[in-house]
Amino acid sequence: MSNCIFCKIVEKEIPSDVVYEDEKVIAFNDLEPQAPTHILIIPKKHISSINTVKKEDLEVIAHIFGIIPKLAEEKGIKESGYRVVNNCGNDGGQTVGHIHFHILGGRSLQWPPG
Ligand code: 5GP
Ligand code: ZN
Repeated sequence: MSNCIFCKIVEKEIPSDVVYEDEKVIAFNDLEPQAPTHILIIPKKHISSINTVKKEDLEVIAHIFGIIPKLAEEKGIKESGYRVVNNCGNDGGQTVGHIHFHILGGRSLQWPPG
């Protein structure tokens, strides 16, 4: 998607602080971290949101969930705990239309969110 900021990160057209990358996914630090650890993990394929995940995309989504605990361990937040967030649509607070999962940790997080 030519106008998608996260596709541009995938293509390295705009810089990001990459913490993990393989052929299917990339993870990078959020530009405006809301916690000491705030990573975004995304499929390299442009999928706009949870609402448009197709059956053939489920493999990469599962792959992402395999990588998350490894990143949490690397960042030292696996045992203390962390939060994985997907914002979907306007009311969900989604601001970037390329599916992404936030990994937040390193402090005590409040629940429920506002
Ligand atoms: P959303 O609100 O869509 O769930 O989350 C989008 C996230 O992307 C926000 O936390 C925002 O700070 C982050 N973000 C937006 N643009 C960029 C960018 O260009 N680089 C990085 N690293 N993060 C971004
Ligand atoms: Zn995209």
